[in-house]
Amino acid sequence: MLSRRLLNGFPDDTTVRIVKLPLRVHAMVVRHDCYNTILINEALSADGMVRALRHEISHIERGDFDSDLTADEIESAVHAEGRGNT
Ligand SMILES: [Zn+2]
Repeated sequence: MLSRRLLNGFPDDTTVRIVKLPLRVHAMVVRHDCYNTILINEALSADGMVRALRHEISHIERGDFDSDLTADEIESAVHAEGRGNT
């Protein structure tokens, strides 16, 4: 499962749930009233969960929810930073 070390510096306004998602969806962030819930696909391996979690945290840290960029432009930027999840 996700290690405590990974959670150092974890955003205070964010919680994580491991849930059933379509296989093609590794993870996603649901935002409500400035509070984030990261949903991680239960079908991923432990390493895959860590990668997906780091990827979603990078979106939160970048403030991508407030961005005017398209989803494709945001994903390109995240992957260019080496924070992709695939
Ligand atoms: Zn992404």
